[in-house]
Amino acid sequence: MQDHLQTKDWGLGLKGHTIIAGPCSAETPEQIEKVCLEMKKENMVPDIFRAGIWKPRTRPGSFEGIGEDGLKWMEIVRHHLNIPITTEVGNAAHVESALKHNVDVLWVGARTTVNPFAVQELAEALRGVDIPVMVKNPMNPDLQLWIGALERFHAVGINKLAAIHRGFSDSYDKRFRNKPNWSMPIHLKREWKGMEVINDPSHIVGNREGILETAQRAINFGLDGLMIETHHDPDNAWSDAKQQVTPAKLKEILSFIDFKNTLE
Ligand code: PEP
Ligand code: MN
Repeated sequence: MQDHLQTKDWGLGLKGHTIIAGPCSAETPEQIEKVCLEMKKENMVPDIFRAGIWKPRTRPGSFEGIGEDGLKWMEIVRHHLNIPITTEVGNAAHVESALKHNVDVLWVGARTTVNPFAVQELAEALRGVDIPVMVKNPMNPDLQLWIGALERFHAVGINKLAAIHRGFSDSYDKRFRNKPNWSMPIHLKREWKGMEVINDPSHIVGNREGILETAQRAINFGLDGLMIETHHDPDNAWSDAKQQVTPAKLKEILSFIDFKNTLE
């Protein structure tokens, strides 16, 4: 087995299960502030705050992200919550702009992970930069493609790596927006020892109701954290309105999860 697949010191360096929450998309400064204030009020401050700035939408015409302006609003998060911030990057210009605005953690979206040219472009833009990178699974259930994307970041010196399990596109299975295919994250963790895998039940389920069950399964299977889309007014969110939850609901979901219930 290759050496890097045996390394133990991967991950984001946080203790316990990592909780990432925040809106699908940054919309306005007021929206970011409201989400933060509600998180604070509910005493539901995550480990990392997420917000998409550049949104890779399936079809043109839907909201494609607020762009670089949104990165300035991340100061609001720092001011109210003082926690690290993560956003999705899809090309070298995104990386440059995210680094300029001191984004703490980057993530690579499922539509980017499928394309080795795009992943390599991101990796080159990060050569010599010390920043954690989280790689979402590719749209299709191809474990080698997922590992390959992680390896491209490893090869340019990124040593804080994590994976995000957000499910796999399957137009025939209507139970899930993206089918979980649990063997994929489990095999990734077996093949790359020490790799943290964070489960994203929001994009797997595609609605609010199923998040708890999928999140609990992820913990049972030994996954290392949860990324849950959280908005102060989910019904009126500019993207992924059906699946976002309020900070109060997030708190309830997390309180129902048995984090010690591991089947492994
Ligand atoms: C998101 O996290 O909002 C997103 C676009 O994710 P994915 O790449 O998993 O579709
Ligand atoms: Mn989303």
